[in-house]
Amino acid sequence: MSKRDYYEVLGVERGASEAEVKKAYRRLAMKYHPDRNPDDKSAEDKFKEATEAYEVLSDAQKRQAYDQYGHAGVDPQMGGGGYGGAGFSDIFGDVFSDFFGGGGRQRGGPQRGSDLRYTMELSLEDAVRGKTVEIRVPALAECKSCEGSGAKKGTRPVTCTTCNGVGQVRMQQGFFAVQQTCPRCHGSGQMITDPCGSCQGQGRVEDSKTLSVKVPAGVDTGDRIRLTGEGEAGTQGGPAGDLYVVVNVKAHDIFERDGRNLHCEVPISIVDATLGGELEVPTLDGRVKLKIPEGTQTGKLFRLRGKGVTPVRGGGVGDLICRVVVETPVKLNKRQRELLEELRESLHGDQAHSPRASGWFDGMKRFFGDGK
Ligand SMILES: [Zn+2]
Ligand SMILES: [Zn+2]
Repeated sequence: MSKRDYYEVLGVERGASEAEVKKAYRRLAMKYHPDRNPDDKSAEDKFKEATEAYEVLSDAQKRQAYDQYGHAGVDPQMGGGGYGGAGFSDIFGDVFSDFFGGGGRQRGGPQRGSDLRYTMELSLEDAVRGKTVEIRVPALAECKSCEGSGAKKGTRPVTCTTCNGVGQVRMQQGFFAVQQTCPRCHGSGQMITDPCGSCQGQGRVEDSKTLSVKVPAGVDTGDRIRLTGEGEAGTQGGPAGDLYVVVNVKAHDIFERDGRNLHCEVPISIVDATLGGELEVPTLDGRVKLKIPEGTQTGKLFRLRGKGVTPVRGGGVGDLICRVVVETPVKLNKRQRELLEELRESLHGDQAHSPRASGWFDGMKRFFGDGK
């Protein structure tokens, strides 16, 4: 049977570009693919024909030979350029990779272990000052009873009979020959006839390891510390993944952190607020004295420079910002009440002593428009 012209088979011009050839082949391959046309001999023939044409025309060297000598230039039976059966999976990897969703070829062999995440709870003090913390993380360790082989003590893994130790098998699916990871040994090339009881033949057992993590000063919630190679173990000699320690700073009783600054609320008595005074306020380094001027109102902010946090990414140290809250005295005795009654009498009607209230009353009058 004489062969059709390859350009004719694909329906492209003789001068067609590589992309046009590929596009044409793809269209035909999708149409006549054996998986889409089960038990249709003529579709299979058309598919084979198109594949053969594509194999030649997509290869610059073979295409040149074909252009020059015709089928004789590339037909293996004619001893020309030649193309063996080898290229199939390569062609499909190339043409169908986006069609079948990703490379398609299952690869055995070494695999990098997964990255792991560990959440580390830290107090604000530890996060600000830095600390070395010991953590226990789950890890796979070599099984002691089989020394990692997975085979029962006294036995050894044997060469896999399905793939003869290669780890890969060629599967014939209709017209396709596909290289696949051996289903029996999962690519290791070895088979365990008598699996170790301690690890169920895995060679590794669940264990945990203790790691010492150096937390740098100034970390905050969400910061990550990477421990290279401390993630999940790789398989078949592949490298281990990384362990990411993610910082979570616990809420503090007194301080709230906002970047490089710390905030806190300081209650003061009406007397200190009125007459002025000296307060003790907390900082991360201990108590410090804070002078309060007379006539201090609730909500006033006092900034203590340099009593904040030095961020881990550098930059200057922040401030501690204290917000004053005037506290109403409770549970007064008779004498204290008398003093305050006296004070009330004395202040009565004189709004000069209440800057905020006088402004507020003015605003209220404007709001109601009563001018009173
Ligand atoms: Zn074992
Ligand atoms: Zn195998």
